[in-house]
Amino acid sequence: MTPTPRLVEVCVFDAVKKPLTYRAPDALSLSEILGRRVIVPLGRRKMLGVVTALDAGYSGPVRDIDSFPDLEPVLSAAELEFCRFIADYYLTPLADVLQSYLPQPLSARLNQRVAIPSHAALIAAAAAGDPAAAALVKLLGSRKQLSAARLSELKPALRTSLRDAGLISLDWQVKRGRLDAEMLQVAATLQEVPPDLKSSVTRRLLEQLIAHGPTDLAALRRLTRTSAQQVFAAEAAGLLSITEMPPFFNPPAAPRDLNLVLNAEQTAAIATVTATISASAFAAFLLYGVTGSGKTEVYIECIKSAIAAGRRAIVIVPEIGLSQAIFYRLAAIFGDRLALIHSRMSAKSRFEIWQRARSGRLDIVLGPRSALFSPLPDLGLIIVDEEHDASLKQESPPPRYHARDLAVVRARQLNCAVILGSATPSVESYHNALAGKYRLLELTQRVDARPLPLVRRVDLRRSFEKRGHGYLSAELREQIEVTLALSGQAMLLLNRRGFAPSVHCFACGHKLTCRDCDVALVYHKIRHGMLCHLCGYTEPYPDSCPRCHSNLFLYRGIGTEKMEEELRRAFPDVPLLRMDLDSTRKEGSFREIFEKFRSGQAKILLGTQMIAKGFDFPDVALVGIITADTSLELPDFRARERTFQLLTQASGRAGRHNFAGQVILQTLYPDDKTVLLAQEHDYKSFYESEIAERLELGFPPFVRLILVAVESADAAHAQKIGKEIRDAVHGRLTGLARVHGPIAAPIHKRRSFFRFQILIKTKRIKTVLKLVAEVLNVPERQTNRHQRVIVDVDPVDMM
Ligand code: ADP
Ligand code: ZN
Ligand code: ZN
Repeated sequence: MTPTPRLVEVCVFDAVKKPLTYRAPDALSLSEILGRRVIVPLGRRKMLGVVTALDAGYSGPVRDIDSFPDLEPVLSAAELEFCRFIADYYLTPLADVLQSYLPQPLSARLNQRVAIPSHAALIAAAAAGDPAAAALVKLLGSRKQLSAARLSELKPALRTSLRDAGLISLDWQVKRGRLDAEMLQVAATLQEVPPDLKSSVTRRLLEQLIAHGPTDLAALRRLTRTSAQQVFAAEAAGLLSITEMPPFFNPPAAPRDLNLVLNAEQTAAIATVTATISASAFAAFLLYGVTGSGKTEVYIECIKSAIAAGRRAIVIVPEIGLSQAIFYRLAAIFGDRLALIHSRMSAKSRFEIWQRARSGRLDIVLGPRSALFSPLPDLGLIIVDEEHDASLKQESPPPRYHARDLAVVRARQLNCAVILGSATPSVESYHNALAGKYRLLELTQRVDARPLPLVRRVDLRRSFEKRGHGYLSAELREQIEVTLALSGQAMLLLNRRGFAPSVHCFACGHKLTCRDCDVALVYHKIRHGMLCHLCGYTEPYPDSCPRCHSNLFLYRGIGTEKMEEELRRAFPDVPLLRMDLDSTRKEGSFREIFEKFRSGQAKILLGTQMIAKGFDFPDVALVGIITADTSLELPDFRARERTFQLLTQASGRAGRHNFAGQVILQTLYPDDKTVLLAQEHDYKSFYESEIAERLELGFPPFVRLILVAVESADAAHAQKIGKEIRDAVHGRLTGLARVHGPIAAPIHKRRSFFRFQILIKTKRIKTVLKLVAEVLNVPERQTNRHQRVIVDVDPVDMM
């Protein structure tokens, strides 16, 4: 009897998007092959890929798998299944999903390595009669090291036993890559260039470093015109040192309040989650707790429960900025069983954390959305903090996934608990909680029964009528004075950076817009230039109007730079800080601002939404919202929700510890329902009005959305392709979905591409996804030199 050839499906990196079929060697059992990286022949090339499935059905000609760079799978069967779900749901080729799921170095030719931590221990074990150790000693012979290929000659059971006994370990060693150059700090180890130094290259490097101090590798290479290799060589010669820059500062570890007594609501929430963890069951919890209600303490206790049950936890936070605040609170408790992972770390560091997670050396991984992909064994709990936050959605590259939704999928798959926490839950999640899909846990009170801040509304239009007030209303000015007199601090939110959001010609009214996008250029006074906030295009401040050559310009609106000027005029002696993207770009500047404000050296902190969330400064008595409701006008069905969230989160910074909180909410829409409900901290009424509107207009959670965007440098072409796609999709989806468009996207032109959108609304997402995938053959056929087709399932960015 001839054995049937053992065929497997392989997803090849950086090549074809479709999985291919190869023949697996007979010596390996199929379960040993699944999830392993392989080198396979493709045409005349050898490519790297992952075995994603067994493929018995295929009957064409096949080639053999060339080799296996590792001794074991990089993805478990469950992880593969999860990746396949992501691929199917977000209409992304599985090969692309795998590449963003796995750490970047694994997409490179890199072999797993066998390390023997102690030869003495190995020999002792062999002498004591351990058969695995004896086999390994024999295999080693007189060698000290063993290649992965040689180790694979041992039976799998022996290999497992060696690993479990700690006699060998398997890992990958990555060199520092060029990609990480900006995160590597190079410093000279000497005070002077040695007189006998021969190499002129090394001399250049040292002269630069000695004269100007430590520099990141990327800048150093630019300044000295050297290669990374030359810098590494000088390091090897001991002339300079290279260290990875900490992406964050280390604030002094906040000593945990040991006397902290959890309140009844916190205790109840913890008990409910703990019960799920002990039962090893799936449950999704929505932890709805007002700002300052102690949600983080609930997370901490639930993580402790998971660890006590021998399981592990992932904590997802929306942004890098927020992750560090929570990181230091968790690190004070969990120490080095916790790791922070995020995109500003080098690929090398991230890969090392991945390896630590995978081998069980970590209990908790914390980070922005992709932390969800950490390979922690025995996952018992996933926490998604600020579950309403838009940055939990990956925009590009694909897969365009929502980390909150995938966290729930993953928890269900692994039978574990997932907590979605927020002071302003997304309409979708709160709906799910009311519908019984999630279990609602509520923290209705601030800790220690502190009251929520009192919010006063100020009509900005009235303020404009008074001379000399404008964006600094009389009420806000007075409250700042009161706060300062009581030695409190004030935080002022203005959701626009730069000086003026738009600049117009005084004579002809012409608005200065970006060369590549159809948005206004923002005037930045500090750098005296015009900047596109969408694509980064800059140009100098114009001498004259490009249309009529007049040289008088008018500024519209206000940004943080202009507000800073106004505040300095109004409070000349008060130390004030501005925190926005521009003021925090320089290394260490975020830290400087943060510490100056926390230590009380500065009394006023003016900032963009960067300061709205997460911060917990004890002396902040006043929050002033300069104008944050401009987002109300955006043509997006979530515009009101975003505004409500921002207003509530910003207000929540006031009165958390030493002072009663006050909020001055300046608005151009004093009668708007969203503004009024935010003033009252009335989430539930806001939800009621919002859900009614969504039902009426047919938006999530009552339907699912798929947004198809067609982009091209040629507007007519984009529209034409849009129509073709609409017709094709429409034909297949009759009775299953409503198809709208193509219409010009709200931002019609972005980075030189004209954009049209097709919106699909459906209650039968699974069926519709399959049909859309068939029609669009996503994405190979639709994307080419002339056009781009982007499919976004459950879109967050509608612009
Ligand atoms: P949230 O995440 O809900 O905004 P935090 O978890 O940051 O709130 O809690 C706010 C502050 O209150 C923190 O300094 C925290 O240590 C403290 N805190 C939490 N729970 C309690 C409690 N039961 N008693 C006293 N203080 C608490
Ligand atoms: Zn003009
Ligand atoms: Zn632009």
